[in-house]
Amino acid sequence: MLSHPPAGTRPLLSRSFQMVRVVTTGVDELRLHPQPGAPCWIPRLGQGQQRLAPLLAARGTRMTASPLYYAFHNPQLTLFTHAEPPLGLALDPCTHLRQLPPVRRASAFRALPFGSSSAPFDPGHDTITQQEFVCLVADTLDCQRVAGATLLLTPFHVTGALGTRGREFDLRLARSAWEHFLSQRMDEPSDLARLPLARELYATVAVARELLASPRLLLALAEEYLTLPVAGFWVKLEGFSERASRKEISAGAGFLAALASGGRPVVSCGPGQLHLGLLVNDISTSLGMAEGERFGFPASRPQGDWSGGRSRTVYHSKYLRSFRAGAESGARAFKGSPCRCRRHPADRPPERGAIDEHAAIVRATEAHEALDGEITERREWLLATAALASHLAHDCGVDYTPGAVYEALFEGIDAARTGGLASTG
Ligand SMILES: [Zn+2]
Repeated sequence: MLSHPPAGTRPLLSRSFQMVRVVTTGVDELRLHPQPGAPCWIPRLGQGQQRLAPLLAARGTRMTASPLYYAFHNPQLTLFTHAEPPLGLALDPCTHLRQLPPVRRASAFRALPFGSSSAPFDPGHDTITQQEFVCLVADTLDCQRVAGATLLLTPFHVTGALGTRGREFDLRLARSAWEHFLSQRMDEPSDLARLPLARELYATVAVARELLASPRLLLALAEEYLTLPVAGFWVKLEGFSERASRKEISAGAGFLAALASGGRPVVSCGPGQLHLGLLVNDISTSLGMAEGERFGFPASRPQGDWSGGRSRTVYHSKYLRSFRAGAESGARAFKGSPCRCRRHPADRPPERGAIDEHAAIVRATEAHEALDGEITERREWLLATAALASHLAHDCGVDYTPGAVYEALFEGIDAARTGGLASTG
C-alpha cells in the first residue's frame, strides 16, 4: 500500500471544503466522463478561464481538464463539479515537466511534491530510489484527488517504444498507480462530494515523436497498455497534429484506434486541428481554449502549459484552423467569413477577453455537431466541411487544405480497425 501524504495540498483541501455545499440529489445517473460509444470533447482550461465553464456547459460539455499545478493558484478551475450543471474534472499531473531543467518548469509545478527535483529526469537513463518511486505514484494521485479531480491520470513521461528502459519505467508507474488507486479506494466519491460520481483512473500514454515513424512499434505499445486494468487512456502524442506528415498522422491515428479497439475510452490530448477528425471516429479529445492546442514540451518559458508558449490563437470553424491572434491572415479570414458567436464584431477576429470566449462557443458548438449521428455520416460531414474550408481559404489567400489531413487520419484509423496497422510499417 502506498500512503505518502502530498505536501502542499492542505491549503487547497480546506479552501475547497469551505466552498462545498453538501447536497444529495439524484445525479448518480450522470455520465460525465467519456464512455465506450459515447466519446466527448474535453476543453482544457488554463489560467483564469473558469469563466468559460458556463458557456461550455450550456453547449453540452460534460467535463473539463486543467493542469494540476494550476489548481493551487487558480482553484476556481476545480470547482465545476459543484456547479449546476456539474461537470467532471481531470487535473493533468504534467509529470513530463520533470524531464525539463528546473528553470523551464513553472514555479507552481516546482512547488508540487514531485516537481522540485534539481536536475532534468531522463526516464531512459536515470534511476530513482524505491521511496522516490512510491512518492511519485502516490503524490500525483493524492494531489489530483485532494484538488477535486473525478477522472485521475497516472504519472507519465514522454518516452519511447516497448522494451526501452523509459517505457518500462512508465508502465511500472501506471501499474503501481492502479494499485494505489485501488488500495486507497479512490473510486469512491468523498463523503462531502456534492456529486456522487465514481472516480476513474486513466493510464496516461505519452509517446516521443520518433515513434510516429513506426506503426509496428506503436501497435506493440498499444497492445501492452491494453493489458492494464484501467478505465481508459489519456494519450499525448508528441508532434501529432495537422502539422505532422501524412504518414505520421496515419500512424498516430492508428495507435489511438488500436487502443480504442479494447472497448475503453481513449482521449487524445492536444491533437491540434486533428481533433474533429478524431471526434467523428468516436475518439475523445482534449485541447486548450485559444492556447495549448498541441501537445509538446513548452518551448522555453516556464510559466506556460504544454502549449509551447503562451501565444494565443483564434480558431475559425469555417476554415477548420486557427490563426495567430493579431495576424493579418486571421483578419482576412474573418472578413471573408463572419463569425456568429456574438462575442465580437462578426467580420473581425476576437480580441483580448473575447478570444477564449469565442473559442469556447465555437469549439463546443462544433464538437456537438461532430458527435451527432453515425460515424459514416459524421466523416462525410467533416470531409465536406473541409472541402468548403479549402475553397474559402483560397478565396481569402490563407491556403490550407484540411481534407488531405483528415483523409490521412481516417486511413490510419481504418488500417488499425481492420488489423492492417502492423503491415504498414
Ligand atoms: Zn466568434
